[in-house]
Amino acid sequence: MKILVINAGSSSLKYQLFDMETETIIAKGLCERIGIDGHLKHTPLVGEKPVFDSDMDFPTHSEAIAAVLDKLVSAEYGVVASMSEIGAVGHRVLHGGQKFTESQLVTADVKQAIIDCFPLGPLHNPANLMGIEACEKAMPGVPQVAVFDTAFHQTMPASSYMYAVPYKYYEENGVRRYGFHGTSHRYVSGEAIKVMGLEKEGSKIITCHLGNGSSMAAVKDGKCFDTSMGLTPLEGVPMGTRCGSVDPAVVEFITNLEGCTVSETLTMLNKKSGVLAISGVSSDFRDLDEAAAQGNERAQLAIDMFTYGVKKYIGAYAAAMGGVDGIVFTAGIGENSPEIRRDCLAGLEYLGIELDEEANKCRGKVQKISKDSSRVQVYVIPTNEELVIARDTKEIVEK
Ligand code: ADP
Repeated sequence: MKILVINAGSSSLKYQLFDMETETIIAKGLCERIGIDGHLKHTPLVGEKPVFDSDMDFPTHSEAIAAVLDKLVSAEYGVVASMSEIGAVGHRVLHGGQKFTESQLVTADVKQAIIDCFPLGPLHNPANLMGIEACEKAMPGVPQVAVFDTAFHQTMPASSYMYAVPYKYYEENGVRRYGFHGTSHRYVSGEAIKVMGLEKEGSKIITCHLGNGSSMAAVKDGKCFDTSMGLTPLEGVPMGTRCGSVDPAVVEFITNLEGCTVSETLTMLNKKSGVLAISGVSSDFRDLDEAAAQGNERAQLAIDMFTYGVKKYIGAYAAAMGGVDGIVFTAGIGENSPEIRRDCLAGLEYLGIELDEEANKCRGKVQKISKDSSRVQVYVIPTNEELVIARDTKEIVEK
């Protein structure tokens, strides 16, 4: 079976077509500037077909999906003989609220639940729904599956997910911690339990998804026990452009100072804060490393705040779970930066963590980076959210 995986943003749409016999990607691509003008880059990965990379007219997600499907079956750029080969479509959906603990076949009810979560994911959920509806229109009868970023975290106990604000906001409006990157935390914690030779029951894993957006999770018995992102992806460690956890009073203080609206302040905390704001250099850790190496103190401070933030969560989650068997680093920074991994773990020897400096030089592959004598096993495990979406989709449509 071939499965199309879609990750729709407000003005972009990423896709990968999987051949599930071999779990390989046979084509991938990106539609950009949807609703503005439009651009499609389509890359076939089998059959020595050329890459298509050109401006196109995408007034809405529907035209973008139609263009993608057209390329997937075209004689020149195609990788399948006809659309009937595509058995199902899996969609990444940001927010499933409290309703979904696992991936769902898209029905009218599921679409309504995605709409009900618009206030919780105002930028992503409408785009995700547009992606689903565009596929329904272009591929009538082909099953669509929604895979929620929040689902894995639904096992958290109330003491992890509640905010200490008036209870009615939880009861009436769903104000609580949800957590994100759930597909990634689920995948890497599952792989960790396998490679570390642990039993799921009784296992205590801390997963560090460190990318442009970063989140941490405490995974106990294979289930999420706590996570660092909250009602929205703004909470937790400082990120590329997001502030992470701050005293909420900062919002009023800055709003008054600037004479702007709360929503403008929140946009600033989402898009113009984090290591970008501290360093004044970049949100990309490669640029920060370079600037810090040249003596830029604010770039170094940004890196230090980030690694200190991760370290504090490791300590907190070890305490929360009554210990830790394994720590996993994943995503852009976690998979590729030996220096950041080293700094996040520095001083944690007392927890039983001994880093193997030589093994830690690895990038982008599954690798144990702790010494054999280390009580806590530490691994780099590249995440693969699209593969998880494809697997979930296959499982659901084959049920
Ligand atoms: P997203 O959250 O957008 O999916 P990724 O997980 O792809 O992000 O992570 C992207 C980030 O990974 C970049 O912004 C950059 O900071 C970081 N990164 C990628 N490669 C390296 C590297 N070699 N060294 C340090 N950081 C890196």
